[in-house]
Order: sequence, then structure tokens, then C-alpha cells
Amino acid sequence: MGKIIKAKNYNARIKKPPLEEGVWGRLLGQGEANPLLQPFLGIHQTAPFNSIKIEHYLPAVDAAIEEAKSEVQKTIDNPALPDFANTIVALDLAGERLNRIQSIFFNLNSAETCDQMQEIAKEVAPKLSDFGNDITLNEQLFARIKQVYDRRETLDLNVEETTLLEKTYRRFVRSGANLNETDKAKYREITKELSQLGLQFQQNVLAETNAFELLITDEKDLSRLPESVVEMAAQTARSKNKEGWLFNLQYPSYVPFLKYADNRELREQIFRASSSRGNRGNENDNNDIIHRIVELRIKKAHLLGFKTHAEYKLQERMAETPEKVTSFLEDLHQESKSFAVKEFSEVQKYAEKSGFKGALQRWDWAYYSEKLKSEKYNFTDEEVKPYLQLEKVISGVFGLAQKLYGLGLKENKSIEIYHPDVMAYEVYNENYDFIAVLYLDFFPREGKRSGAWMTDYRPQSNVNGNSIRPHISLVTNFSKPTESTPSLLTFDEVTTFLHEFGHGLHGMLSQCQFPGTSGTNVYWDFVELPSQVHENWAYEKEWLDTFAVHFQTGEKLPESLIQKIQKAQNFQAAYMMERQLSFAMLDMAYHHREQPVDGDLREFELKAIASTDLFEPVDGSSQSTAFSHIFSGGYDAGYYSYKWAEVLDADAFSVFQEKA
Ligand SMILES: [Zn+2]
Repeated sequence: MGKIIKAKNYNARIKKPPLEEGVWGRLLGQGEANPLLQPFLGIHQTAPFNSIKIEHYLPAVDAAIEEAKSEVQKTIDNPALPDFANTIVALDLAGERLNRIQSIFFNLNSAETCDQMQEIAKEVAPKLSDFGNDITLNEQLFARIKQVYDRRETLDLNVEETTLLEKTYRRFVRSGANLNETDKAKYREITKELSQLGLQFQQNVLAETNAFELLITDEKDLSRLPESVVEMAAQTARSKNKEGWLFNLQYPSYVPFLKYADNRELREQIFRASSSRGNRGNENDNNDIIHRIVELRIKKAHLLGFKTHAEYKLQERMAETPEKVTSFLEDLHQESKSFAVKEFSEVQKYAEKSGFKGALQRWDWAYYSEKLKSEKYNFTDEEVKPYLQLEKVISGVFGLAQKLYGLGLKENKSIEIYHPDVMAYEVYNENYDFIAVLYLDFFPREGKRSGAWMTDYRPQSNVNGNSIRPHISLVTNFSKPTESTPSLLTFDEVTTFLHEFGHGLHGMLSQCQFPGTSGTNVYWDFVELPSQVHENWAYEKEWLDTFAVHFQTGEKLPESLIQKIQKAQNFQAAYMMERQLSFAMLDMAYHHREQPVDGDLREFELKAIASTDLFEPVDGSSQSTAFSHIFSGGYDAGYYSYKWAEVLDADAFSVFQEKA
């Protein structure tokens, strides 16, 4: 599920000439210089997190937008005949400062936010939307781009240059450049509102995630919860000056609770809290927002000459059309449905054998599945954790990067970070050339969204010999260390780490000329390939042997346990497939349609996922109202990408295996 985040929700990329420090300070009328508007002078020119204060963002964005506009204007006013360098490349390089500022702002708004940041985000988003529209809807600029585009056959461009030219041209067309004035105005309004709605959606999910706490004061209610989880809950309670054990909806707390807690009522309570996020009729409710987002996306698609939003999005994807996606999902569904039903009834029967009566509910699923799995394969997830100490996993992952790509990673504490938990590394290739900065940010916090993602603070580029290496960041929500135990990962968390690290490699190893084509700027249904292919190593004994030792005894992860893990690899694979398909189908239901959704969203949702759903619906639950991937994460009409890339990565991994 790990996401990639692109903070750039504006349409153009812009360039510097670095303005001298004082200039912007004076423009802002500020006594003190704004660090976001100074050249970044720290090691590798990384973001100056130590000196950035919240009040710096707004004036910095305003000033950088002005700067970017004047840079773009220079391109427009260039008296020379438009060519690839003076138009396409110039535009791609314009607004670099703005790009960096907003990367910092939006990355932190996901990983380390607060009320003030969220308020600023609501102001910043429409400004960026306006700015992006000012560029892509500018007639003179588009005319220049079109002139270059129309002559593309005669320009003797290489593959990357052609890609950038075509991407730029299509981006303008797809952002309304060919519309008449009336429709351009409509387009502006729609995109501006959408930028705000996406942010609001994300803020609501975070608020809802933080709103729930389950305080346990009776030790009996902790029955069968692993010691490490109990200790973490005690620590969470203490940190909030509470007696007892505090559980919440952050993954390291929520997931084991559903998996292990014998107390069924409490499992139900925590499940309902999580699954009703954004659907509780309070100030964080996302239902109206979804209605509006879907409606606006349709309007935008219609304006641009597409029947549906999915059709619009898929024009720029490997899959090409909604029909292809739908039949791809349907084929997978046909192949897996009957197996998923078998897996489901296996758990139901197992539960009954253990004394459970009635139909299995969602809050029973993980609990009985885990028990069944441990019986079937003779091990528990908890048994594996002591061998997966975070620090050792990190060295294992780095070792893999060295073996496969010749990379060396070295922590550098003089690189500024935005939270004490974050670690910053320098990455070198086999010739000891510096190739990237990598930030790792592992633990949950109230200011961090759920899930795991990769993003960048600076993209790679190499224009006219000016080599800029990327600054990449991986953010996760892994189990924290406690007073007595280091951070011990679950096997799933190791897989997630490999996934995000795969995205990270995609960014770090980039060798492109232009920011607009570098790193993860690829077709969206390709983007999960580099991530998913690396997940495969989690099951390789050879790799596990390089780092997995017991954190107390130093004993190696026993071969017998590795074999059990491998055997259990496909446990409930069809069920998991159906679950992923249900997300992808829901996504397509919202986005491959010509009319807004009428009426109740929950009804709509249940209908959309009916063929994949194996449970009775739970009152008050909603998949949609916390589905950030598609309503605020860029995976709209794109959730299928995970399955799409999975088909590709199976092939890719077999090549690695042959060569290893
Ligand atoms: Zn991913």
C-alpha cells in the first residue's frame, strides 16, 4: 500500500537564477531573513530544517511564486524563435525555488504537521493552483510550446528530450490550454476547489485517526496481546499522563490489537472506530467532500473532452483506457474469487471449532486468521519479530542496495532534520561518487499521516553539466522502541520497508537530464514496479541471513523458521487479492462515470465492491471516507496500479534471480 507522494500539485516547474539573499527579505518587508528564500548552504544544500519556522512558509511561497512568474515571463518574452532549449528546458527549470519550498512544506504537512501548518496549507493550495493555471493557460507560452512541438520531427532530439517535449505539450493540453476563455475560467475554478478539497480530506482523516483512544485499565482486557504491544501501550498512556494502557488507530497499535486481543468487544470497538473515520457526521466528515470531488473531476473531464475522469487520467498510463483496467481487474477477480471464498470459510470453520458462534465479523478476521496461520504453519508473527530489530533491518536493506547496485550509505548527523526521530544518510555509488541524500523517518506521531510513502525534497537533474543529486525521503509508521526493547519490526513492516526503499532507489539512482523526466516521473501504473519487486527479497534466506539475528541472544533467524515464513507466503493470498481488487474497483466506480454520485455514498460503495466483499456490512463503516489514496493521494483512477505493476514485477524479479 506504500504510496509515492508528489508534493507538486502545480503544473509548471520553474527555475532560479538565485536571487541574492537580501532582495527577497526586503521585498517581504521582513527584518529577519527568511531561510526558505536564502540559498540552502548546508551540506549537499539540503533543506534548512533547523531554521525554518512556520511563519516563514506563506511569505516564502508568495515571494517564490512571484519569482517563478518572472522567470516564466522571460521565456515568454524571449525574442528568439522558440526552440527546445529556450522554451521547453527553460520552462522545466523555471521556479526551482518554489518547487523546493513547496516540497518542504507539503512533505512536512504529511509527516510532521500541526493545526497551523494545516491552516497555511489551505491558503497555499489555491495560490499554487492559480499559479499553475496562470502558466498552463497562458496563450503566448502555449503558442511557443506548440511551435516547438509541431517541429519535433526536425529537431534531432534524443529519447529523453522527446519525452520532455511531448510531456510538456500534453500537460498543457490536458490542463486546458486549448480551451476558450469561458471554459478556461471554469477550469480555474474547478482545479482551485479540487486542490482545497483534497487537502481537507487528508486533514479530516488525520483528525479522525487522532481522535480515537482506547484506554484499558483492567489487565484482563490485555489477554493474549504480545508483551511488546502491551509495553508500548503502557508507554503511550504514560506519555499522556494516563494510568493503564492506551491504544489508538496508529498501525503498530491497531493492527496487533485486532490480531491478538481476546476481548472481542474491544476488538469491535477499535475496528468500528477505524472503519468509520470520516463518516461520523461530525466536523471531520468526508462524505460531502467526496461527492464534490467526484462531481468536479467529472466536470473537469467533460471540459477537456473526456467522458469520464478515468478516461482522462488513463490517457497518460500504460493501461490507456478504463475498459482495459476494468477487464484487467475483472479477470483477476474471476481467477481469485473462488479461492478467496474457500479461504474465508476455512477461517469461519476454524473459528467455530474454537467455540465461536455466528457469522465471522470483520473484527474477528485478523484474530482467527492469525491463530489459524500459526496452527497451520506452526509459527506466529510475534516469534519472528525479535529477529527483525530495526537497526539490523536497516543494515540488511543497505547491504542489499550495495549488493544489487553498489551503493554505500553513511549516516551524516550534520545534515539537518525536521524531527529527532529522522535519520539522514549520504548515499554513494561504487566509485564513491555522492549520489543522493536519504532521509528515513520510521515512527508514528500525531502529526504524521498513516501508511508509508516515499517522496523527495529535491529531484535529480543534469542540465548542461550542472549535476543536481536528489534528496529522497522515506516515511513509515513502524513500531517504536520501548524502554526495554528496541524497535522490532513485524515481517510485514520489513516488506513495507523494502517497498518504500524500492521507490527510494528509483529516485536515488535517477540519471536524467531534466527534473521533469527524472526519478519517479514515469507512468503511474509503472511506478509500483521498482517498489514491489524489492519486496521479494523478504522471502530470500540468503538476504535474511545477512542481518536477521535475535536482538537479545544474537542467534540467527533459524532456517526452519524461514521455511515456515516461505510456506506461509501465500496464506490467504486470494483473500488479499480480493481486498486489493475491491479498492481498485471502488476507485474505478467513482472515477469512470459520467454523472456525479447520487445519494448515499455507503450504498454506492457497497454496490461497487459487492462482488469482492465476503463480510456482512458494518453499520457506520465507510471505505471511501478514509480512502486517501484516491481522494488526496494521486491514485485516482490509479489504484489498480498496484496489481498492474505486480504482474510486471514478477518478471523483473525472475531476471534478478537468474543473474544473482
Ligand atoms: Zn508504492
